[in-house]
Amino acid sequence: MNEEREDCFSIADNLQFVRGRIKTACERSGRRPEDVTLIAVSKLKPFSDILEAGAAGAEDFGENYVQELTQKIEENNSLVESRPIRWHMIGHLQKNKVKYLIGRAALIHSVDSVPLAEQIEKEAAKREQVMRILLEVNIAGEESKWGFDPDGVIRAAQEIASFSHVRVLGLMTSAPFTEEPETNRVYFRGLNSLAKELAAKELLSVTDPDFRGPVLSMGMTGDFEVAVEEGATMVRVGTAIFGRRNYE
Ligand SMILES: *Cc1c(COP(=O)(O)O)cnc(C)c1O
Repeated sequence: MNEEREDCFSIADNLQFVRGRIKTACERSGRRPEDVTLIAVSKLKPFSDILEAGAAGAEDFGENYVQELTQKIEENNSLVESRPIRWHMIGHLQKNKVKYLIGRAALIHSVDSVPLAEQIEKEAAKREQVMRILLEVNIAGEESKWGFDPDGVIRAAQEIASFSHVRVLGLMTSAPFTEEPETNRVYFRGLNSLAKELAAKELLSVTDPDFRGPVLSMGMTGDFEVAVEEGATMVRVGTAIFGRRNYE
């Protein structure tokens, strides 16, 4: 597995390797690599790693913790030549932290309740901004995971559709941890059909200038190729790019 690659590979090497694997997965499934955005998940890694990945062409970074995210944004902004980075909030989000993300995060992947979406609406309205979001689905019904259940996400999207400062672009999931990526195929397929259902019910913000079809944010180091084969438009890859994290 890729996680086992030795430390002698640089971040640039790893990025190239991951991009190659995405491309191959696209070829296998008749998709175009440019339709899959690679999000480099830099949580718990130093800003210098982001610069290294940025120099190798990465423009989308995923972070899990609001404070770490805002610190890294500050660091980037303080550079003489700041990098053109799109920051993705992918971790569980508390309502009281929402205000720090408005105008900073390009996309919040981890919206897992209607009250959280309401808070985003409120804070975005206050700043006269719109916030693009994904709804997180606990697709395998795991005890330990955040996210709507598949029925709940449709009801939630129906409520959120009336918000004027929140744009729902699609769905996100974290499939179960597994040594055998094939076992997650059924979950990725499930998320894909849920997104189609949301689109058919006209619950996605198709008028948003960033909308290019439903976003499916799914696939991590252990299973991103299967996710791409099942239609992922964003994959969130940390370990295969930056190496192991010291703690979670
Ligand atoms: C950490 C994390 C990732 C990246 O995980 P890897 O297995 O290191 O690729 C992706 N998505 C979420 C929500 C995460 O928390």
